[in-house]
Amino acid sequence: MAVNDTALRPTVAETLNAAATAIGAADARALLSHLLACAPAFLVAHPGHELSDDDAQRYAGLVTRRAAGEPVAYITGEREFYSLSFAVTPAVLIPRPETELLVDVALEHIAPHSDCRVLDLGTGSGAVALSVARQRPRVHVVAIDASEAALQIARTNARRLAVANVELRHGDWYQGLAGRKFDAIIANPPYVAEGDPHLTQGDLRFEPRAALAAGGDGLSCIRHIIAGAAAHLSPGGWLGFEHGYDQAAACRALLGEAGFCDIVSRRDLAGIERVTAGHPASAGSRTSKESD
Ligand code: GLN
Repeated sequence: MAVNDTALRPTVAETLNAAATAIGAADARALLSHLLACAPAFLVAHPGHELSDDDAQRYAGLVTRRAAGEPVAYITGEREFYSLSFAVTPAVLIPRPETELLVDVALEHIAPHSDCRVLDLGTGSGAVALSVARQRPRVHVVAIDASEAALQIARTNARRLAVANVELRHGDWYQGLAGRKFDAIIANPPYVAEGDPHLTQGDLRFEPRAALAAGGDGLSCIRHIIAGAAAHLSPGGWLGFEHGYDQAAACRALLGEAGFCDIVSRRDLAGIERVTAGHPASAGSRTSKESD
């Protein structure tokens, strides 16, 4: 007997409505456009499009994973950052919109046709290093990470984005870079204090702890990065790094104590001081200022 079950097939609109109650409308759309390999606009334009039984079943599986807390980016395996699509897995931090500020600050310091050298410490997925490298094709970017699993993702991303001017290295911070000098050092290091309740909430539960949390007050990696920077900066070179929403003043103080000058904190789109930068003082007065 032929079974005609087409009438039972759910439409895009029905599917999204049902999922939205469990995971919210935005995530429901993101997962369905990923599953159907279509642009989100297709879902808006074709609310009556029927899902195949197979797709409906697979979608239910994705919604269950999201409802259990798994981040959308780990389910879809990608996240957009600086208008580029990056592969992500639980081996790397999911690139955040506020981290685009670190790329902006780096690009402000690097003239368009400059052939300078940039070091990205703790590159993870490579989001920051590869975004800078794409925007500045003549720059040589060295991107280092202590996690071999993270480096594999960064390598995948370099291939996907056809970036050839990034040198990916395995190592802990400045490990293996003795004697090498850079015009800029950038980093989005772990800076969440161990014991911060956010680590046990939301997407952060699924992200690599080593990419998020740093010892004590959360500043241990930042201290280490600052301590090693001068030895790896060319004359006139600068250091800029991301930090937590309440760490800007502490980071300016750490840079000041380490002899940096022209220390500036920059605000992200939410108005939070998120990136602090400065360069080692060779001579002259030290200054430290908050962003406008
Ligand atoms: N900004 C991230 C968060 O708290 C942390 C990223 C990091 O430690 N570099 O969600």
